[in-house]
Amino acid sequence: MSITVVGSIAFDAVETPSGVRERMLGGAATHFALAASLLDGVRVVGPVGDDFGDAEMDVLRTRGTSVDDVERVAGGKTFFWKGKYGWDLNTRETLDTQLNVFEQFAPKLSEASRACDVLFLANIQPGLQLEVREQCAQARFVALDSMNLWIDIARDQLMEIIGRVDCLVLNDEELRQLTGKPNLISAAHEVLTWGPKLVVAKQGEYGSALITADDFFALPAYPLHEVVDPTGAGDTFAGGFVGVIAKHIDRATDRRVLRNAMAYGTALASFNVEQFGTEGLEAIKAAQVRERVADLYGFAHFEPIDVELID
Ligand code: AMP
Repeated sequence: MSITVVGSIAFDAVETPSGVRERMLGGAATHFALAASLLDGVRVVGPVGDDFGDAEMDVLRTRGTSVDDVERVAGGKTFFWKGKYGWDLNTRETLDTQLNVFEQFAPKLSEASRACDVLFLANIQPGLQLEVREQCAQARFVALDSMNLWIDIARDQLMEIIGRVDCLVLNDEELRQLTGKPNLISAAHEVLTWGPKLVVAKQGEYGSALITADDFFALPAYPLHEVVDPTGAGDTFAGGFVGVIAKHIDRATDRRVLRNAMAYGTALASFNVEQFGTEGLEAIKAAQVRERVADLYGFAHFEPIDVELID
């Protein structure tokens, strides 16, 4: 199955307790593609400026990802984001966001990108996500990510696009902000009344939870001794999650497929956070992913024992 992704392709400046990077390849679509390309064919849609070099384009092409719909805007500057993490890596402050080439971007997808079976609308202006959704009318599974910025400044468009996707992937505090419900489960169930059949709540180092009308499944993050840079963990997770669904598109809402999708997303995200930017996912091999997925099956299951309770 083919996966099309639209979202930011960026230069990121990041400060974490492990170090500082002034300018490295980043962006939601980039991190997603690096993960999903381990599972299926990916086509990236988005603009870059003429400051975007061949070396960065080659990273986007990792494992055969198509960059035919990556538009190089002459005289334009690539999207730029700058963030700083607190010492425990759970808090992140955005210091700068420059939309640059995304401000004038009008997505015109090639025939091949429009014909995708699976569409991931990575974090970008909801208006652009809507335009791409319209062009991929025949997609069989559509997932969406967003962030607090768009809940604050483009809520109406965000609500419109949420109503047109199968799956919403969001940080748990953003789910609460979006729905105005302080409880994660009731927030997710509120979203399920708007159209999506699945909600994935990303919970940082605590992992992620999958909520459907009749199921709940949570996985811890893969336990690591050192996290170097959490940037893009959510998009990498989404790449693994959506990638497994793409491979099992005829059973996309099957509980077993979804739980495995959660495990692959979690394992891939763990490789992303071990190094700065895209470094972790560029070099990853299938055998390493399989090993961590196998560990996760162990963490999430336990054998029942008889425990006598007192009334
Ligand atoms: P995550 O850590 O999963 O939230 O994703 C971080 C990535 O999202 C970085 O590589 C940024 O380039 C990108 N990003 C940050 N802010 C925005 C935004 N407002 N719109 C689109 N992409 C963004």
